[in-house]
Amino acid sequence: MMKPRYIRVIIDRAIHRELDYSVPETLLERVSVGSRVRVPFRDKSALATVVATLEQSEAEGIRPIEAVVGDTPALSEQLLELGNWMSTYYCCPIETVMRSLLPQVIRRGEIGWKKQLFVQPVRKVDNDEVEKLRRRAPRQAELLEAITQLTRPVPAAQLLRTTALDNQTLRALVKRGLAQLSEDAVERDPHADEQFIATTNLELNAEQALALKQLTDALDALERAESARPILLHGVTGSGKTEIYLQAIHATLARGRSAIVLVPEISLTPQTVERFKGRFAEVQDAVAVLHSHLSQGERHDEWHKIHSGRARIVIGARSAVFAPLRNLGLIIIDEEHESTYKQEEAPRYHARDVAVVRAKIEKCAAVLGSATPSLESYYNATIGKYQLATLTQRVDERQMPRMRIVDLRQERRKGKAIAILSDKLRGAIADRLEKREQSILFLNRRGFSTSLLCSNCGEARDCPNCSVALTFHRHVARLSCHLCGHTSTVPKKCPACGKDALIYSGFGTEKVESTAAQIFPKAAVRRMDADSMTRKEAYRETLRSFRAGKIDILVGTQMIAKGLHFPNVTLVGIINADLALHLPDFRAGERTFQLLTQVAGRAGRGETPGEVFVQTYTPFSPSIQFARHHDFAGYFQQELEFRERCDFPPFKHAILITARSAHEERAKFSAETLVRRLKEALGTEFILSEATPAPLEKMQGQFRFHILLRGEAIMRLSRLVRETLDKLPFPEDVTVTVDVDPYQLL
Ligand code: ADP
Ligand code: ZN
Repeated sequence: MMKPRYIRVIIDRAIHRELDYSVPETLLERVSVGSRVRVPFRDKSALATVVATLEQSEAEGIRPIEAVVGDTPALSEQLLELGNWMSTYYCCPIETVMRSLLPQVIRRGEIGWKKQLFVQPVRKVDNDEVEKLRRRAPRQAELLEAITQLTRPVPAAQLLRTTALDNQTLRALVKRGLAQLSEDAVERDPHADEQFIATTNLELNAEQALALKQLTDALDALERAESARPILLHGVTGSGKTEIYLQAIHATLARGRSAIVLVPEISLTPQTVERFKGRFAEVQDAVAVLHSHLSQGERHDEWHKIHSGRARIVIGARSAVFAPLRNLGLIIIDEEHESTYKQEEAPRYHARDVAVVRAKIEKCAAVLGSATPSLESYYNATIGKYQLATLTQRVDERQMPRMRIVDLRQERRKGKAIAILSDKLRGAIADRLEKREQSILFLNRRGFSTSLLCSNCGEARDCPNCSVALTFHRHVARLSCHLCGHTSTVPKKCPACGKDALIYSGFGTEKVESTAAQIFPKAAVRRMDADSMTRKEAYRETLRSFRAGKIDILVGTQMIAKGLHFPNVTLVGIINADLALHLPDFRAGERTFQLLTQVAGRAGRGETPGEVFVQTYTPFSPSIQFARHHDFAGYFQQELEFRERCDFPPFKHAILITARSAHEERAKFSAETLVRRLKEALGTEFILSEATPAPLEKMQGQFRFHILLRGEAIMRLSRLVRETLDKLPFPEDVTVTVDVDPYQLL
C-alpha cells in the first residue's frame, strides 16, 4: 500500500483555514490522522493537528513538517469528528474547538513526566557485612538493612521518610557501592495519600433494577451493533441514581469498554470521587479524575493515564467529555440540567449535548441523570428521542420534605423593614437548635448589602465599568463588583452631594450570617460562599465540621445547594426564592423550580423528615407552587406551554449574538448593520430580533448590544450566521460573539 506523502493540518493559530504539508520519509510511519506535529509557519514554527492524510496536494509551496509530537495520535478520529460537529453547530472556528479537545498542557507539550530518584540494592549483603558496617556507621547500616529487603526500586524520598534517615546516609551507601540510584518517570497522583475502602454493588430495589436493565439493554444493543437512544434517568434526590451509575459502569467494564462520568464541578467533591474509586478499588489506576484544581503536571499525567488506556473510568467536570478514552461504552451526565455544563467562553458548548453527540459517534450508551431534568431533555424523552427511566422513591422510603411557603408581603405588612428571617423561619430554627438538629439557610447572593444609596441626592454607588450596583462586603470593609472584580473603599459621605446620608440596602449571605448569629447568639453559625471559601482547604474543613455537628446553622450560596449529604439537617430556609424569578430570561421559572427542588433535597435524609421554608414575595408563582407539591409533571406541562407560545427552546433553538465595544455608538452601529445583513440572509424561516441594548448594558467597560435569533434548523441557522459574519468587516474595537443555545441572556 502506498503511504500518504502529504497531510492536512489545523495549526494552533486563528487563521481559519487548513494547510497542507509534506511528510519526510523518516517520519511517514509515525504520522496519522489525529497526530500532533510541528510545522514551519511563516518564518516560525507552530504546533498543529493532522486532520487528514493525502496522497496528493494541489497546494503551492508545500513545505515538509519538522517533527511529530508524541508516539501515538493525540486525538482519535471520533474526537476529530466531534470537533468538526462542534465547529459547525456552535458557529466556532475549528482552532478554537481544538483548545477544548486537547488540554493546554498536552497541546503545548512543554511539561513532561516528573522525574524521581529510585533506590535499589546492588547485590546481596549478608548479616556479617551489615554488622561490620554498624560498628563504624550505624545509620548507614540501618538504611542498608532496609534497602536489602527491597524487591523492586522505590522512590528514594519515600524510603528516607519511612526510615527517618537522611540523604547524606544514602549517598554514603551509594559511594560504598551498596546501593544504586536511578532516575525514572513517576506519576503525580493527586489522590496518592488517600485510602479507598473497597465497596461492592448494593442490592437494587425494583425501580432501580428496572432502570439498570434499560441501561444494560442499551449496552447489549450496542454490542450487537444496533443503535441505542440516550436514556434520561429521572430520579428524585436520594433515589439511588449514583448506585445505578456505579453498576452500569461495572457492566460496561465487563463488556471490555470504558466509561466517562460527568458531574458539575461543584459536586466533584472528595466524597464523590471516593464513591467511584472505592467501587473500583480492586483495579489499580482504574479511575482518572479531571477537575479544574489539578496542577498542569497532574493534568498531564491524568491525560496520559487515560490516553494510554490504563484508566478505564474518567470522572470529571465539563471538559471531561473530551477525555481520550478508547473503546468508550458509556457516558453518564449527572445533574444534566446544570447550567455549569455550558461553557461561557468560546467554544460555547454544552457538555450534555456534546456528550450525546459523542455517544452517537462512538456508538456508545449515554445516560442523563437528574432529579429536575432540563425542559429540553424531558421534552426529548416525551417525544421518544430519549428513553425515560424513572425513580419515584427515595431509597430509604423516607418522605419528601414538607414545603412551607412564607409570604413576605404579609411580613412586610406587619411592619418589618426587610424580612431576612421571618417569624416562622426563626421559630423553626429555634426549634432545631433545641433538638440539636442542623439547619441550612440558602441565599444565592454574596456580600452584606447589595447596594449603597444616598438618601439625599439618590445617587447609587455603581461600578465604574459595569451597569450594576457595587456590593458591600463587611468582613473586608470594601465595595466590590461581582461582574468585573472592581473594588473600592467605602465612602463615609456621598461622593456626589457630600451629605452624610448613605444607606445600605438589599442583603447577601454575609448579612444573613450576621443576622442569624445575632438572633441565636448561642448557635454556631458558619457561612459558605465564594468569599469565605477562598482557601482550597476551607471548603473541606467547613463540610467536615458541619458533618461532625460542630455547626448548627450553615449559611450559603449554591455551593451548598448541590449533591451534599447531611443526615442531621432537618431544616432548610430559602431566604429569597424570587431572586432568579425576575431576571429577564426565559429560563427564570425553570431555574427557580430546579433550585427549590434541589435545595429541598438537602433536608431530611436522616431519621427525621425534613422541613423547608420558602420565603417569597410571589407565593403564587407556578414554579414555587409546583416545587412545593413536588409536582414535576405539572411544572413541566405549564412551562412547556409557555415555551411553545413564545417560540423558545425546546421548540426553537436560539442563537444570541453580542456586539460589544468601549464605544457605545460603534457597538450599536455594528449590531444594527449585522441585523440588516442577517435579514437579507435568513429569509422568513427564522425569527430575528432587532439590535437591542443588553439587559446588562455595560460590562467591564464595554457597551453591549444583543441580537436574538430563533429557528428549528439550527445547523442551517449556524451556517448562515457564520457566512454573514465572515462577509462583514467589523471595526477593530468591536467584538462580536455568537452563542448557540445560550444560557446567559444578560
Ligand atoms: P442519588 O444519586 O439519586 O441522590 P444515591 O445513589 O446517592 O442517590 O443514593 C442515596 C443513598 O442511598 C446513598 O447513601 C446510597 O448508598 C444509598 N443506596 C442507593 N441505592 C441503594 C440500595 N439499593 N440499597 C441500599 N442503599 C442504597
Ligand atoms: Zn464591574
